[in-house]
Amino acid sequence: MSETNVVKTVCGYCGTGCGLILEVENNRIMKIRGDKDAPVNKGQTCVKGAFAYEYVHAKNRLTAPLIRKAGELVETTWEEAYQFIVEKLTSIKTNFGAKSISLFACARSTNESNYVTQKFMRTAIGSNNIDGCNRT
Ligand code: SF4
Repeated sequence: MSETNVVKTVCGYCGTGCGLILEVENNRIMKIRGDKDAPVNKGQTCVKGAFAYEYVHAKNRLTAPLIRKAGELVETTWEEAYQFIVEKLTSIKTNFGAKSISLFACARSTNESNYVTQKFMRTAIGSNNIDGCNRT
């Protein structure tokens, strides 16, 4: 008989940040319900938060970064992926200036992630060109 573990978490589907309770068996999510103690949603969820969790176990989910090489997306390491990003951004900034770079932040990220994102753009890149669909 498998043991059911209960995991408290925050829904990542949108910026509302509803508290969720996951029922997990054998490292698989079996059911999700709203967290009655969460101040945002008080136990309620929308249909996505309650039912759209199958993607977590999808077989075709990406598990490694990809870089396009000779027209094909090829799995790579995080080290190579970050190095590739650094080289591309540095080249664009050097050749076209910092303001040629913009970033579209994610409404599904936490406030903290979006804060770090805008900080990265303003301090590391030197551009104020940042936006996100979470302001609409
Ligand atoms: S349950 Fe629905 S409303 Fe709440 S955070 Fe998730 S997607 Fe947003």
